[in-house]
Amino acid sequence: IFRNKLEFFAAAKVSSSFPAPDLQEIAFAGRSNVGKSSLLNSLTRQWGVVRTSDKPGHTQTINFFKLGSKLCLVDLPGYGFAYAKEEVKDAWEELVKEYVSTREGLKRVCLLIDAKWGMKPRDHELIDLMERSQTRYQIVLTKTDTIFPIDVARRAMQIEESLKPNKSVVQPLMMVSSKSGAGIRSLRTALTKIARF
Ligand code: GDP
Repeated sequence: IFRNKLEFFAAAKVSSSFPAPDLQEIAFAGRSNVGKSSLLNSLTRQWGVVRTSDKPGHTQTINFFKLGSKLCLVDLPGYGFAYAKEEVKDAWEELVKEYVSTREGLKRVCLLIDAKWGMKPRDHELIDLMERSQTRYQIVLTKTDTIFPIDVARRAMQIEESLKPNKSVVQPLMMVSSKSGAGIRSLRTALTKIARF
């Protein structure tokens, strides 16, 4: 499936403009700067289709990208700007909440966590939301090249341990570096198994 051409399909600022839920979807979420665009580019081996647009003050949108005729990769707006206004946070929350809790065809949310910084309160908020709506999600540690392998392993264990009581999380978490390419193939393989093609 990841050999297909990636095509921008739709952008939505409000849930009423989500495209018809005809395709299976895998969504990607995380703090701004976590490496989400880079990961989407590495997974699809297509550069320039997904661009970073999570600048503070910019309108936050959910972007839908078709990958072939059966799967859609969904780029959820980044969060966690220290200086983002409350309205921005509220708008994000409403949009993402609506998406993860009601979206038909949503097979999995990949929640990206920077290996160096670990989980932050906003990540936990999203996890709580997904637990409440029973949305299947998995943790993907990003930028594993930025710290020593022993620290990546330690971080992974710490996160897995903290998520043990959770019901909707898919274990084990995965570890990637878009820079070195480590873990990209494994993640691609894991994601390929989620949907029915
Ligand atoms: P986004 O805001 O989540 O879409 O993040 P980007 O993909 O735009 O990446 C944010 C910054 O982190 C950029 O400067 C990237 O070059 C850098 N980055 C992304 N992935 C990696 C990685 O795997 N390793 C390293 N060292 N840097 C990365």
